[in-house]
Amino acid sequence: MKHLLFFSSAFIAFLLIEGCASSKQFSAAEVEHSIITMNDWGGTPAVDSLARKHTITHITLHHQGEPFPKGKDPVQYLRNLQKWSRNEKKWIDIPYHYIIDLNGTIYEGRKIDYAGDTNTEYDPTGHALIEVVGNFEEVEPSQEQLDAVVRMMTYLSVKYSVPVDSIRAHKDYSSKTVCPGKNLYRYIENGYFKNHVQINIKPNL
Ligand SMILES: [Zn+2]
Repeated sequence: MKHLLFFSSAFIAFLLIEGCASSKQFSAAEVEHSIITMNDWGGTPAVDSLARKHTITHITLHHQGEPFPKGKDPVQYLRNLQKWSRNEKKWIDIPYHYIIDLNGTIYEGRKIDYAGDTNTEYDPTGHALIEVVGNFEEVEPSQEQLDAVVRMMTYLSVKYSVPVDSIRAHKDYSSKTVCPGKNLYRYIENGYFKNHVQINIKPNL
């Protein structure tokens, strides 16, 4: 019994230390203020009358699916993505609501009130879509990117009352894709994102 007590208190102490070391506490409001808005990066808003309005019930992770070399300008990438989305795909805007660059900076994409778009067979209505730049079939996400995903998921979970169990990845809804790539999907699969969001939600409630 003594041993059991020792082990369980050691385990709890470990969890506390681990929790503090790996996640700086932040508020949902701080995350919101840190987002580079579309206006800030020089994008143009979608036409409201063409948008499908929706209520957020899920948080869904994506990757770019193409290499994003160091030194590539994320703002230029966003401008090109917006142009391509409208001109080639005939979508109202960038398909994702938030985009995370190599340094973990978060940019606003499509307005969160508008349902996203996809090249695959799932219906993204109700999903808050987060895209991380890079191809995670080939490279590992940086710690800055992982931290930014946790911050963004926490913010969305708090703001829209999305249960932690509704945090998933594109490939959980579509058999036609490996998105967000095996090296990023690992953190969905092993509970890393859910656990870190859970830890960070508490001070925000
Ligand atoms: Zn995807």
